[in-house]
Amino acid sequence: MSPIVGIDLGTTNSLIGVMEAGFPILLAGSDGERLTPSVVHFPAQGDPVVGHAALRMRVLEPAATVYSAKRFIGRRVGEETAPTGFALTGAEGTPVRFEVRGKPYPPEAISAKVLAKLRADAERALQCEVTRAVITVPAYFNDAQRNATKAAGELAGFTVERIVNEPTAAALAYGLNHLRDHARVAVFDLGGGTFDISILELHGGVFQVLATHGDTRLGGDDVDEALVGLLSEKLEALAQTHGHEPGQSSQPALRARLREAAVDAKHRLSSETVCSVELPFLLGNDSLVYRLERSELERLARPILERTRAHCIRVLADARLSAADLDEVILVGGATRMPLVRAMVEGIFGRTPNISQNPDEAVALGATLQAGILSGAVQNVVLLDVTPLSLGIETCGGVMNVIIPRNSTIPIKAGEMFTNAVAGQRVMRISVLQGEREMARDNWRLGEFELEFEAAPKGKARVGVQFEIDANGILQVLARDTGTGSQKVVEMASAVDVSDEAVEKMLEDSLEHAFEDVNARVFTEAKLKAEELLPAVRNALALVGDALDEAEKALITQRVSEVEQAVRDGASQALQRANRALDDATQRLATLLVERAMQGGKTG
Ligand code: AMP
Repeated sequence: MSPIVGIDLGTTNSLIGVMEAGFPILLAGSDGERLTPSVVHFPAQGDPVVGHAALRMRVLEPAATVYSAKRFIGRRVGEETAPTGFALTGAEGTPVRFEVRGKPYPPEAISAKVLAKLRADAERALQCEVTRAVITVPAYFNDAQRNATKAAGELAGFTVERIVNEPTAAALAYGLNHLRDHARVAVFDLGGGTFDISILELHGGVFQVLATHGDTRLGGDDVDEALVGLLSEKLEALAQTHGHEPGQSSQPALRARLREAAVDAKHRLSSETVCSVELPFLLGNDSLVYRLERSELERLARPILERTRAHCIRVLADARLSAADLDEVILVGGATRMPLVRAMVEGIFGRTPNISQNPDEAVALGATLQAGILSGAVQNVVLLDVTPLSLGIETCGGVMNVIIPRNSTIPIKAGEMFTNAVAGQRVMRISVLQGEREMARDNWRLGEFELEFEAAPKGKARVGVQFEIDANGILQVLARDTGTGSQKVVEMASAVDVSDEAVEKMLEDSLEHAFEDVNARVFTEAKLKAEELLPAVRNALALVGDALDEAEKALITQRVSEVEQAVRDGASQALQRANRALDDATQRLATLLVERAMQGGKTG
């Protein structure tokens, strides 16, 4: 049987591992490197090139070389701006396609090429066929992004046994499953271009993601950019001293050299306190030599890295914990090698972070351990994840009806019974939503379908709607007419894709608009009630109104007009009050109606 491999499919680099003799081992490619750049180059002729070879070609032929496909996976055009170097095709709102040499490629096709290379490397190393994999994704990936990642795995010839959240994988690699029960762990993941902070809890041998936050535009690359800025100033000074034209630092070739030197210096300053940046013959015969101290790098990096602080505070608040409640803080991602990052994390969480694992490899090692758990090579650990955002359906008046709340542990199954809003209605539209806002229109629409059911009086039909999220975080929606047993099951595969920034924004918006959202919901519900009440009162007045005295009739008319006015004003509190007042004013009318009905029943 094929072994199950663990894969960290990264934005910049990817890794693959397998359990051997009870240990997770990361496998090297044919070039001897374990890190495979997630880059694909399409030559004018012949097969695409993946990894280091593709990365080298990026400098020469940027338009034919695709990188950072993970940023676009499961997304639509317009949600994210393209990195320079290659074009996106298609209209706004359609799934993203990269255009390379006149041909469109979806991001999953690019990721599939990276995965296929990893698979070939593993087959070479293991000398057997490899067809089963566990793949990691960021904790905030939505259904569409998870589905697209799974599709990439399948395109590469894998059966994807499990999609695992990156922080969960990292915690597993740190051996945190051996912590005491109820241990809580923060996973601080700072890579080249993205930052994620997650809080996990270990409970009965099971990991749960309690909360997750982050910034998809924050990472080591920003530090590089700041350092390139500093070196550009030195370059301009050099140009001025030696009589070269100004503006040299904006030349792409020179900028590329400055960037290379900046990254190299940054890495060296993680273990040394001072280094020399040397760029021979940068401008003709003139060379740039600059003595860079760690303190100067830190002065540039500090404002950038400080941006992680607010996310750490928010994630703790979301998990309803304080820093003192944490048992471990672990570091993941290459940029956490910077001593300043370690010091800042220590400052934020009030404890020395655990750096016992290689931050570049923790996620891949964890994916491999998860593969081992699935194949039975590792026992006594189960991994659970949670839903990053609430899932529900749109109900009467455009209100979001949550079926699975945010941060629910998956796999999960939950359902609710719905009824027809209109008498004789034959079709119910099930509109599946994801988000934290009260009104359907402010959430994301994952999909829509219709269920036909037997016509029934208003409120009499019974349609059960069930949401099921599997262990990979993929959502299936079932709707069943309990009258006839007819049902529909829809997998939300072609979900309306939302970017991770948008997830962030959704959470912020739901806090910011909490007051008006609740107001809008209260108003909608009160308006629905008014829409039921008003015709019922008019009907009752026509039937038994003569039995009321003039003062009673005048009061009801007055209350009716107050309800109508509050509906027109869009005033939720006033409408609630007016509904109640109308209810009170029509008590006797309602009694008369019942009496009349009963008499009618007796005589009829
Ligand atoms: P990752 O996305 O996890 O591969 O992290 C890549 C980021 O880590 C890049 O910004 C690298 O420059 C940075 N990085 C890697 N090694 C070091 C190091 N020794 N010191 C500082 N940053 C590093």
